[in-house]
Amino acid sequence: MLDVAGLRVSFGAIEAVHGVSLRVRHGETHCLVGESGCGKSVTALAIMGLLARGARRRAERIGFDGTDLLALSDRGMGRLRGSRIGMIFQEPMTSLNPAYTVSSQLTEVYRRHRGGTRAAATERAAALLGRVGISAPGLRLGQFPHQLSGGLRQRVMIAMALMCDPDLLIADEPTTALDVTVQAGILRLLAALQAEMGLALLLITHDLGVVARVAHQVSVMYAGEVVESAPVAALFARPTHPYTQGLLASVPVPGKLRRGQPLDPIPGSVPRIPPDFVGCGFRERCRFAMPACAVAVPLRERAPGHSYLCQLTP
Ligand code: SF4
Repeated sequence: MLDVAGLRVSFGAIEAVHGVSLRVRHGETHCLVGESGCGKSVTALAIMGLLARGARRRAERIGFDGTDLLALSDRGMGRLRGSRIGMIFQEPMTSLNPAYTVSSQLTEVYRRHRGGTRAAATERAAALLGRVGISAPGLRLGQFPHQLSGGLRQRVMIAMALMCDPDLLIADEPTTALDVTVQAGILRLLAALQAEMGLALLLITHDLGVVARVAHQVSVMYAGEVVESAPVAALFARPTHPYTQGLLASVPVPGKLRRGQPLDPIPGSVPRIPPDFVGCGFRERCRFAMPACAVAVPLRERAPGHSYLCQLTP
């Protein structure tokens, strides 16, 4: 459904995304994970053609269900966005317009792409609000975003993304701003909707617990590159890139640590300005770094569908 190859995004002289490739199949959840600042959201915005003015996007291929998105005009891309490709943004309070009711915001997207009467669009909006677990949808339709809790606003965002029955849904950290119990409900909802509607889902998150629960395929990003990609079971059973190993080791697992025993974090932090992409971008933080890592870094295949960027062999 989505086939991205060699995606690069630069802001002036700085390249923030360097040769990202990923595929999301029909009915599959592909999780894009990594620390904040790794380029996950920029990757999603580049796929959607929503980069800020001044950003430069290049790629060998961005294909969506047989359509070459690189060849589409702004108008052509606008016809796909919101209809066949839905997007759920990170922060619902800033993504919903505070000056318009829930009804106006849901029906606008539907009528723009599908036409029809206001009454038909309102009927669909009410049905979808019910489907995403919002009680009293008639009442909610007449409310403004500030009258809703964070969880309800996120459910409204999901309903909006689904108004036109998309084939692909891109969800950028859809649970970050929510408390843990609400997060679980939203994730269950996304998983149920995906199974029911056969969606392809590209889910951006830094939460490995979320990945373990919902992903089929996982791509781990670091400093603008996908450093490891694998089916979810293989990634958790045989993490191969030192960054993936570090991410998994730094997750608290109940019963694994003794009382007072510290976690095992990855030293340092993601570079604020991406590296020059000569050699391995992780080498400043990697305990296995060797001189060859500063020169070049090969893409290796550990198993079919499981690849990683590193000098080390498993
Ligand atoms: Fe570490 Fe070298 Fe592998 Fe980079 S290429 S992750 S520095 S061992």
